[in-house]
Amino acid sequence: EDYLNRLRRTEPQIKSFLYISDTVLREAEEIDRKIQRNEEVGPLAGVLVGVKDNICTAHMPSTAGSKILENYRPPFDATAVRKLKGNGAIIVGKTNLDEFGMGSTTEGSAYQVTANPWDLSRVPGGSSGGSAAAVSARQCVVSLGSDTGGSVRQPASFCAVVGLKPTYGRVSRYGLVAYASSLDVIGCFGSSVVDAGILLNAISGHDRLDATSSKREVPDFTSQFIAKEILEPKPLKGLRIGVIRETLDDGVDSEVISSIHTAASHLEELGCSVTEVSLPSFSLGLPAYYILASSESSSNLSRYDAIRYGNQVVADELNSLYGDSRTKGFGSEVKMRILTGTYALSAGYYDAYYKRAQQVRALVQKSFKAALDENDILISPAAPSAAYKIGEKKNDPLAMYAGDIMTVNVNLAGLPALVLPCGFVEGGSVGLPVGLQMIGAAFDEEKLLKVGHIFE
Ligand code: GLN
Repeated sequence: EDYLNRLRRTEPQIKSFLYISDTVLREAEEIDRKIQRNEEVGPLAGVLVGVKDNICTAHMPSTAGSKILENYRPPFDATAVRKLKGNGAIIVGKTNLDEFGMGSTTEGSAYQVTANPWDLSRVPGGSSGGSAAAVSARQCVVSLGSDTGGSVRQPASFCAVVGLKPTYGRVSRYGLVAYASSLDVIGCFGSSVVDAGILLNAISGHDRLDATSSKREVPDFTSQFIAKEILEPKPLKGLRIGVIRETLDDGVDSEVISSIHTAASHLEELGCSVTEVSLPSFSLGLPAYYILASSESSSNLSRYDAIRYGNQVVADELNSLYGDSRTKGFGSEVKMRILTGTYALSAGYYDAYYKRAQQVRALVQKSFKAALDENDILISPAAPSAAYKIGEKKNDPLAMYAGDIMTVNVNLAGLPALVLPCGFVEGGSVGLPVGLQMIGAAFDEEKLLKVGHIFE
């Protein structure tokens, strides 16, 4: 009731949710009854979870923020959602996003713009802006997002919550509306590292419905967490941290840079050795990401032909049925990505763009590998600036894309990364949050969570 009251009170300004369940209290009462009968209820019993609206939920809308899926109610749960329910969680509703996850502000939603709870005139980040804002405003306890190029980590940074992008393959993508399948992962938001770890425990693991989900054993991510009172003075002694030099360069807000330096000193105090490390291919990641993500999306979104999926307009012949339905159903950013992707994949241009971008992707993977052979964890800002004003970058897509520079390389390499609040810069009435990004080796979420927990 406490959460629902706050949700009702704050939602008219924040607008995190596209849909709010009306069965939350009933489900909570059912869990209560089970507890009284001493029945098994699961580790997330009664925990309210917000789910990004590109993750399928049975009997609830799943629009992916697009008009083309306006009335779509999937007959099934995404594997991550099914697992949450199996752990006792209650789905409180579906959170706002940029259409199909394409954007960095939630202004690209076909339905509404979500506001940043720290300053209502600013964006919460994106594309999982609704999920981040909902946890930040305590409208729900934890939430699910998706991260193709930073969509969990950048909004976590803008809203001062913890955001975890798992290793590619750690969490099943079954039921996640595909944007760029080789980069997409479902990720976790919480108001602490512990919460993010508990959520990751619930959703991880192999799934025969997603051939790219990993068969690796899933550790208990919460076994790393120990009471802070019993920590020794240098609990992270021996841990090697590499600060990525290229992420503290021109174009990055100076207050953001100093927050990262402060975080690095804090890690040193905790016993880590901190050195600078270079990722020479860092700046190539952004153009490569936008070519690859657009190319994959142009293919993935071909399924919305108004016959297999998608709202259908009335038309008198087949080509205009396809064309008019897609013209009406997709927003402008999505159309731009489809056109760019189709171009990059077309016969005359494939070698110059798509193939080139794949070569860059291999370079990025190689340079991360080298840096992570020398270091346990790499750190950087999660975004080059704090949250900016709603409308500021809306008509300048290139400026918006440039804001993804800190996060996209991690998706190209498939690595796990944790973002957590590390400071504030001037702005708004109380200051604006800055997030620290910690990048780990593939499938080493445990180390990220352990270090993040001690750091926070
Ligand atoms: N902002 C990036 C994009 O528009 C990343 C989005 C995401 O991770 N879904 O592609």
